[in-house]
Amino acid sequence: MKNSGIHYTGVDFDRAATLRKDQDWVDKQFQNPKCLFIPIWQNKNLVTGQNDTSDPGIIYLSKGQYSGFEKLVSESVFLGFDDDRPIFALDISGIKEEILKTHFNQGEFINLRLIGQLLKARDAARLAYARGIIHWHNTHQFCSKCGSKSINKSGGHLRLCSNMECGKETFPRTDPAVIMLVEYRLESGEKKCLLGRHTKSPEGMFSTLAGFVDPGESLEEAVVREVFEEAGIRVGQVTYQGSQPWPFPASIMLGFRAQAETININVDPQELAEAKWFSADELINAGEWGDKNPGLKISRKDSIARHLIDSWINEQL
Ligand SMILES: [Zn+2]
Repeated sequence: MKNSGIHYTGVDFDRAATLRKDQDWVDKQFQNPKCLFIPIWQNKNLVTGQNDTSDPGIIYLSKGQYSGFEKLVSESVFLGFDDDRPIFALDISGIKEEILKTHFNQGEFINLRLIGQLLKARDAARLAYARGIIHWHNTHQFCSKCGSKSINKSGGHLRLCSNMECGKETFPRTDPAVIMLVEYRLESGEKKCLLGRHTKSPEGMFSTLAGFVDPGESLEEAVVREVFEEAGIRVGQVTYQGSQPWPFPASIMLGFRAQAETININVDPQELAEAKWFSADELINAGEWGDKNPGLKISRKDSIARHLIDSWINEQL
């Protein structure tokens, strides 16, 4: 499949989704001396340190390194094969911070949200996958039906209720959220796009609108509803643009372009501090997320919001 160019996509593992249902098979992969591990500590990923001169990258642990902290691993998940190497994610959140350094003398555990855009696309995608599924285990330790402890099964892609009378199976979940670039075509033919500034965002920081999908709602309906709720704009045609895993903590962002049928903005002050129509020229000159200057800044380079904005700008040139 052609890479979409959207960050956090493109995990190139063979996930062996049928074979991993057999726990004996998974256990055998775990014993493979070629096995590599991606540790997760309290939602953070292990990457080469900020003091290193090169860009950050994944630090994989070998079988030998694993034996040093085996008893401290609370969950393991078979992520897939990298060629013939089985790759597992390990949850080591139980290790106390002060003794973490004694087990890991290279790299640092860092929030992927902070360093994602500095990582190569392949590394970012792999770490997002590992972080996302370990987070799911951490938040699904108990059966949602009877409250009994649940057990890691199918190589970490299923949790089974330990109460034999219940036996509820729970599968990893991802919360769908729509994210949309709304455009308006002026009578002159020029197009403008609608961006909003969230109430929690710093001055000048604008992005595309977004929101979670309700039960009983199509993705297109969610786009129409969210744009009207947040900015008071009616949109007509809605077209799909691409998607992005967003494990912060557990979403998939579904990207759309929406055609505005009205132009007068009326923001929901609970959601947005402001929303504005921007021309491509204004956006080309925008600063980057995190810039300290008070001027216009747009979404981080690793976000699908930025992908939607950049694609739109390129079409206007
Ligand atoms: Zn149960």
